[in-house]
Amino acid sequence: MAIGGALSVGLIGLKAFIIQLQAFISPGLPYFSIIGLPDASLSEARERVKSGCTAAGVAWPQTRVTVNMSPASLPKRGSSLDLAIAASVLSAQGIIDPECLTDTVVLGELNLDGTVLPINGLLPILLHVRNQAVRRVVVPRANRDEAELVDGVDVAYVSHVGELMEMYGAQAKVAAPRASVPVDSADQAFAPMIDVGDMHDVVDQDGAKRALQTAAAGGHHVLMMGPPGTGKTMLASRFPGIMAPLTEDEQFEVASIRSLSGTLRSFGISDVPPFEAPHHTATVPALVGGGSGLGKPGAVTRAHRGVLFMDEAPEFAPRALQTLREPLESGAVAVSRAKGTTFYPARFQLIMAANPCPCGFGYGTGERCTCRERDRIRYFNRLSGPILDRIDIQVEVNPVRRIGALCTDPGPSSAQMREQVVHARSVAQARFRAQGWTCNAQASGAWLREHTPSAVLAMVNAALASQRLSLRGADRSMRLAWTLCDLDDCGEPTVDHMAQAIALRTKELT
Ligand SMILES: [Zn+2]
Repeated sequence: MAIGGALSVGLIGLKAFIIQLQAFISPGLPYFSIIGLPDASLSEARERVKSGCTAAGVAWPQTRVTVNMSPASLPKRGSSLDLAIAASVLSAQGIIDPECLTDTVVLGELNLDGTVLPINGLLPILLHVRNQAVRRVVVPRANRDEAELVDGVDVAYVSHVGELMEMYGAQAKVAAPRASVPVDSADQAFAPMIDVGDMHDVVDQDGAKRALQTAAAGGHHVLMMGPPGTGKTMLASRFPGIMAPLTEDEQFEVASIRSLSGTLRSFGISDVPPFEAPHHTATVPALVGGGSGLGKPGAVTRAHRGVLFMDEAPEFAPRALQTLREPLESGAVAVSRAKGTTFYPARFQLIMAANPCPCGFGYGTGERCTCRERDRIRYFNRLSGPILDRIDIQVEVNPVRRIGALCTDPGPSSAQMREQVVHARSVAQARFRAQGWTCNAQASGAWLREHTPSAVLAMVNAALASQRLSLRGADRSMRLAWTLCDLDDCGEPTVDHMAQAIALRTKELT
C-alpha cells in the first residue's frame, strides 16, 4: 500500500483551518473515494482530479485510491482542494516525492484538462497561513494579484497540474489544451471601481446632509422619509465618502469578505467603507447569507464596516426585515445549514429610505395622496419594533422647492464633511475609553442621564411632558445631541444641540 499526502486550507465563514490530506493506493478494483466530510462539489473533485492528472500524462492507478481529509469533524466545501487532492495522489504514486509536500499548502480548482482555476477566499486563507508553520503555498496563477497583497508568505504560482509536477522534478505534459476562456489573468492588475461620488453633486438638501454627517460621526442608523426623486438614493450612496476611512485591519477584513464573495478584483484593498444596497425583493439568504453547502456571505456581511442601504424599506418582506435584528444587536450573523453553522461578521450602519406613504405623495399638504389612513399605518408598521428601535435619526427629505433658482453654494464637499466626522469620532472615542465604546450610538441610557448637562436634561423632560418625544426617543435624542456637540467640538452638549437633535427625529414613528 502506497501512502502520500499534502496540505491545504479550508474555510468556515472567514475562519481558515489547515487540512491534512492523505492518499492511499491499495489493491482492489479501480475506485476513487474522498472521505472526511466533503460537500457535493468536493465529491465531484474525483472526476476533475482524475481527468486533470490524465491530461498531464499521468497513468491513473488501476486500483483503489482513497483520499482522507482531516480534521474529519470540520466540513470541507468547494473546489479549492482539487489541486491538493491531485498532489496527494501523485505523491502516493511516487511521481512527486512525498517529502516535498510535508510543509507546503496546495490550493486550486482543476479543470478537466488539468488547468488550475482561481479560487475564492484566497486572502483570508493566506492571512491564516502566514501564522502557521508552512514553508510554501502553491496558488493558482490567476490569483496572483490577490496573493501579492499578503506579505511574508512564500508563494509559487501554477496554471496547470503538470506545472506542479515539474516544480517537484517530475515529467509532465503541460502543453495540454487550455480552457477556452482565459483564466490566466496575472497580467491584469486590480481595477478598483470605488467612486462613491461627492455630496456636492446633491442639490440642496442641507438638512439631510447634516443628518447624514451626524449619523457618520456618531454611528447612528438612519431612516430617510420622502417622496421618490428627492435624492434619497444619491445621498445614501455618497455616505461611505463622509464616513471615517477604514483602518488597515478593517481594510483586510473587508477585502477578505470580498475575496470570499469573489468580488475582490473589482474593489482591491481600499479605505472606503463598503456600500450594499439590496433590492426590496431580496430573499433572506441573499440578505444574511446562505445557499448550498455552507453558503456565501449575504448583503449584511458585505456591508460589514460600511453601509447597508435599504431603499423602499417597508416593501421588504417582513421576514427579511426581521433577520436584520440579529446583526443589528450582535454585529454578526449566523447562517445555519445541515453541515453546521457559519458565523459571518455584520457590523454595518443601516440607512433606510421610505416613501411618506404607499402612493408617495403624502408630503407637504398631502393633497395629491390617495392612500387610506389604514394603508398608511400598515406601511410604516412593517418597520415597527426591533428595527425602528435601533434607528436614532428619522429625517424627512422633501422635494427641492427652489426650482429654477440656481444653487450657487453646493455646500461642503464629502472630504470636508469627512474631516469633521473623523475629528468628532476621535473626541467620542477618547471620552468613552473607559467604557470601550467607539461612538455615541453605543452610549448607555444611564451614562447619558449622568453626564448630560442639567439644562439639556430639563429640555428633554419638557419635550417628554409635551409628548414631543417618546421615552425611547429621549435617549436617542441625547445621543444625537452628544454627536452634534462632538461635531462642533465643544465639550458638552448645549440646549441648542438638543433642539437640533429633536429636529433630527422629525417623525416619532415609535
Ligand atoms: Zn399616499
